[in-house]
Amino acid sequence: MSSHQASHLRNVLMSRSAQFRQLEEERMVQRQQEEEERLRRQKEEEENRKRDEAEQEARRRRQEEETIRRINEFLARLAEREGERPATEEVVEEMKDSAFKLKVDSEEICAICQDGMRKGEKVIPFPCPAEHQFHEDCMFQFLAHGSSCPLCRHQVEHDTPVDEHALLGILQLLFT
Ligand SMILES: [Zn+2]
Ligand SMILES: [Zn+2]
Repeated sequence: MSSHQASHLRNVLMSRSAQFRQLEEERMVQRQQEEEERLRRQKEEEENRKRDEAEQEARRRRQEEETIRRINEFLARLAEREGERPATEEVVEEMKDSAFKLKVDSEEICAICQDGMRKGEKVIPFPCPAEHQFHEDCMFQFLAHGSSCPLCRHQVEHDTPVDEHALLGILQLLFT
């Protein structure tokens, strides 16, 4: 190989190696860009997720406030009913036992909060002939104020409290 050929070969090799290095650098830059893009997208997704969560939370809170407002409205109307009195503890306890989870969406709405009763929500049938159903939570709010069915006004059975005074009178009559 002449010195001229050798020099040519060296030049070719050097230029190849320079090309190779350049290619490597370009690849590295590309990988960096891809990584940056991936991180940017990740951050964007994270921000979107946080925003969605905040929106959902706000919506949930608005719904809750709306439900409370409706219940209070209902209770205010209830307060106008004559002779309405809170349910006794026994009645409340008994009704707790009759609560159950809906297996399918109900076709009825809960007359207390005016909202639908959906699959998976706990409801309580009122001990009225029609067994009108209400959300468990709504029912308990209601029972603190009233003891007749919010829909048909059927009065839940109360044990008549023992009239101690009258009983004493009878005993006195018997033993004197
Ligand atoms: Zn309800
Ligand atoms: Zn009823």
